[in-house]
Amino acid sequence: MSRFFDLVSKPAREMLVAPATSSGPPAVQSRLIKLDSNENPFGPSPRAIEAMRTALASVHGYPDAACGELRERLATQHSVPQEQVLVTAGSTELLSLLSLAMLGHGLNAVTSERSFLVYRMVVEAAGAQLVEVPMRNNGLDLQAMLDRINEHTRIIFLANPNNPTGTVVDLAELDKFMSEVPGHVVVVLDEAYYDFAQHFATLREMEYSRSFSYLRQGASVIILRTFSKAHGLAGLRIGYGIGPAELLGYCARMQSMFSVSSIAQAGALAALDDLEHLTKTVTNNASQAQILGVALSELDFQVTPTSANFLCCDLGENAASMADQLRQAGVSIRPLGDWGAPTCIRISIGTPEQNQFFLEALSRIREESSHATGSESQ
Ligand SMILES: *Cc1c(COP(=O)(O)O)cnc(C)c1O
Repeated sequence: MSRFFDLVSKPAREMLVAPATSSGPPAVQSRLIKLDSNENPFGPSPRAIEAMRTALASVHGYPDAACGELRERLATQHSVPQEQVLVTAGSTELLSLLSLAMLGHGLNAVTSERSFLVYRMVVEAAGAQLVEVPMRNNGLDLQAMLDRINEHTRIIFLANPNNPTGTVVDLAELDKFMSEVPGHVVVVLDEAYYDFAQHFATLREMEYSRSFSYLRQGASVIILRTFSKAHGLAGLRIGYGIGPAELLGYCARMQSMFSVSSIAQAGALAALDDLEHLTKTVTNNASQAQILGVALSELDFQVTPTSANFLCCDLGENAASMADQLRQAGVSIRPLGDWGAPTCIRISIGTPEQNQFFLEALSRIREESSHATGSESQ
């Protein structure tokens, strides 16, 4: 235990044990329905699978370290110069690189409580401190975050939609926030659930994101996107950031060589071409969010309206025990005790069949426990 304790760096020594971001290993051992990690229930795009198969024949060679073809493709898609795109091994690698590039002992980053757990890990690994502000109405409190900025702050992390609440920030509030955030702070606009949120916004006749206009106006922002969610490639580890070229250049220096594999680059490129798979994914998500939301409300659970591919739901009872019972019934969901919300769960929205299975299991457990408490009180 103490053999290397005095030898490792201070951040390595002092970091809290990083909580696993996925609840356990993949559910290969049984037919467990996995609604706990916001993965695509339809799997990867078939086109991506085909492209990755083809790429296998070339894995004796190193990948393109600059991810040139993908970067060019993303730059065109987003109408930005290539220098403003950095491809990383999942968007979490970019979170890590940015923290290494900007933070250190005595510095801090600001985010909301009940947000993406990785923010804490990357900030502490860089030897800095994460400041978490309380939420307001289950969403991010942008003013409270502004108020906590000091001269030692370098990064603000905004997950939009937020994980695990599924909420989006009000655009007028975000505009105001962006105009007031001081120049020494970089704002990370984490849009991991972009495609889902954009689809919901279209259905609701609302606007979701103005992130690119902040960038064009010269703001210090990094927009994070990933292939892990709507594109169904979470196991492949590929994502990207769009931001000021100079800042991304510093991040790129900290990146480990060849961290994005050739298979990942090939899979991501092909996934971008598969609009059919993406459309199927986001339309199923929106219609199933509606069905699940209604059913959960009918069971008297409090559901937060979502803009992502999961629902945050207050059970009003011990969520960890409910999660255990659901697991025994064959469904894995995420209890939010790690986020300080011991009565809440996060359920990834699955296929219609998976959601139906989940709802039936939940109402069965609910019924059994009400019988049990009913007989106890008599
Ligand atoms: C899932 C998720 C990501 C994606 O991380 P990857 O490293 O790209 O898999 C990023 N941010 C948030 C808030 C997420 O929920």
